[in-house]
Amino acid sequence: MNEAIETVDIAVVGAGPVGMTLALALTDGPWRVLLIDSRSPAAWAGDPRALALSHGTRQVLTGLDAWNDAAATPITTIHVSQRGGFGRTLIEASDYDIPALGYVMRYRELAGRLATRIDAASLLHDTSLVGLEVDAEMVRLRLGGANGERTLQARLLVHAEGTPGAASDVRVFDYRQHAVVAEVRPNAPPGGRAWERFTPDGPLALLPLGDDYSIVFTVPPGRAEHLQTLSDEDFLAALREQFGGRVDFVASGRRAAFPLALRVRRRLAGARQVWIGNAAQSLHPVSGQGFNLGLRDACELAAALFDHTDDPGATQLLDRYARRRWLDRSGSMAFTDGIVRVFSNDIPPLRAARGLGLLALDTLPALRHFVAKRMIWGARAWL
Ligand SMILES: Cc1cc2nc3c(=O)[nH]c(=O)nc-3n(C[C@H](O)[C@H](O)[C@H](O)COP(=O)(O)OP(=O)(O)OC[C@H]3O[C@@H](n4cnc5c(N)ncnc54)[C@H](O)[C@@H]3O)c2cc1C
Repeated sequence: MNEAIETVDIAVVGAGPVGMTLALALTDGPWRVLLIDSRSPAAWAGDPRALALSHGTRQVLTGLDAWNDAAATPITTIHVSQRGGFGRTLIEASDYDIPALGYVMRYRELAGRLATRIDAASLLHDTSLVGLEVDAEMVRLRLGGANGERTLQARLLVHAEGTPGAASDVRVFDYRQHAVVAEVRPNAPPGGRAWERFTPDGPLALLPLGDDYSIVFTVPPGRAEHLQTLSDEDFLAALREQFGGRVDFVASGRRAAFPLALRVRRRLAGARQVWIGNAAQSLHPVSGQGFNLGLRDACELAAALFDHTDDPGATQLLDRYARRRWLDRSGSMAFTDGIVRVFSNDIPPLRAARGLGLLALDTLPALRHFVAKRMIWGARAWL
């Protein structure tokens, strides 16, 4: 490895929304922080996803002056039902004395706003982490990019590089489902209502986004390929068939598909390294937990760093961060994974049990409040 050409306190690999949130949360600290991303500036402009952001996430981003109000559509009601079975429930913001249960925002608008708040000098684009070495004092990062290789050393390396590939330290549960995403125009504006419909293929979510819906249409991989090749008209017909008649659709935007798996990193902290956001855990998008959970990772790591400013890579600090993330992380993963497993099948006794579950949600306020609080606050629902 070459001689280190530069030293920083904290290197954050991955300038996605979670890495950028961490960098912003550390702005007033004593550290020199450098964000490194393999993509070029604004490469996320083409990202087709929209994310449901919780009320708690809005509060955090507002505190960091990174809330993009113009791009946010409030969710005031969530309607939950299942295809081919009885039972349905409504979760309403007015029951919780808050203006909205959550907000829908395009990934690109979330990332774009965060990027405007990051000092250009602390963000290296078109640069990938290609190797590293760790000793007691430093992590040495080998970085590759269009201009060749360079080295950098940091006292702490934060992995925020998104969904991990195959690695011995990552457990993978493949759902054998793909999420087909698109923006579709309904025949009447959504009026703040989100829909979550469980079908044997997987959940179908309609999230209000301005006058449109952002849809997450979960289906087996082969069907996802097929849905992408259909004409707009045939795609809308397939959507109607899956969703039922409560809403009609008149136009569809471009489609894209994401393979879905639960990927869990066994250890959140290692020698002078820590993992946050999708790099720590990648979840199924049902119930919109992924980014909200990753943002809480970033906040908790920032809080741990501010508690212990001497050495940002100290083992004690990183272990404390990992311990503090246990409850929220395992609770969010169990909640999301449980929903996918219970609802993505067509076994008749389970279908009836799901109907009873939805009925219970509708008639038992305590149960409904628990689910609602998960959507609104995340971790605080468990406390
Ligand atoms: C269809 C779908 C719908 C979703 N809906 C929701 C939702 O409603 N609500 C919600 O909260 N979450 C949702 N999610 C999850 C959410 O998108 C992720 O949790 C979130 O994007 C994670 O952010 P991140 O910054 O950790 O990772 P990413 O957004 O993946 O960003 C990682 C960054 O790291 C960079 N990078 C990767 N490797 C390297 C490297 N070697 N060197 C340098 N840089 C690197 C990448 O270029 C990228 O910019 C959804 C996901 C999907 C697929």
